[in-house]
Amino acid sequence: MNTNADTPMDGLIAGYRRFRANRWQSDRARWTTLGEGQSPQVMVIACSDSRVDPAQIFDVHPGEIFVVRNVAAMVPPFETTPGHHGVSAALEFAIQFLKVREVVVMGHGLCGGCKAALTQDLHGSEPGHGGFIADWIGMLDAVRDPIAKELGTTSRAAEQAMELAAVRQSLANLRTFPCVQEKEARGRLALRGSYFAISDGLLHLLDEASGEFAPVA
Ligand SMILES: [Zn+2]
Repeated sequence: MNTNADTPMDGLIAGYRRFRANRWQSDRARWTTLGEGQSPQVMVIACSDSRVDPAQIFDVHPGEIFVVRNVAAMVPPFETTPGHHGVSAALEFAIQFLKVREVVVMGHGLCGGCKAALTQDLHGSEPGHGGFIADWIGMLDAVRDPIAKELGTTSRAAEQAMELAAVRQSLANLRTFPCVQEKEARGRLALRGSYFAISDGLLHLLDEASGEFAPVA
């Protein structure tokens, strides 16, 4: 980013100009194809955290992964309650229309959303003052309680346990969607849990049979 820029957006505009001068030119054929449509094979659900960009971590080009990012990389359960279900809409589009073959949930180390789920510091906050976050990460309350009981709410071990539990919870919530159940049963869709540790840059994959995460070799 251009450190001489007047505002953050000026820095982004400078980056856009570099993109137009470089990758837009060198990838003309790719962009021409993408202009006709997209057919990503994978959907990635990741955290909004600025340090964990799936396209960078997986080193993919535009058109290769369909991404949703939100606080703590959460998938809510299948709900038909009033409100605007953004993650569910994206899932529906990726699974039913784009027909992705895999959905990858990617949690990460030092996740602020998971930390807030653990400490419950935002409980009782008004919407707009932490209340939306509290409600969103309240999805983790059931898996948070045994962690808090065993490891407390302040240690790094407790935080990491919460970060890994959040990935498992999102996978469980994914399986409450009828279209996910049906496609997974027919072998048309695979779900994967993963975790990117910011401190050492290592990606870990969840083995659902053992419940354990192991670093990619
Ligand atoms: Zn996060």
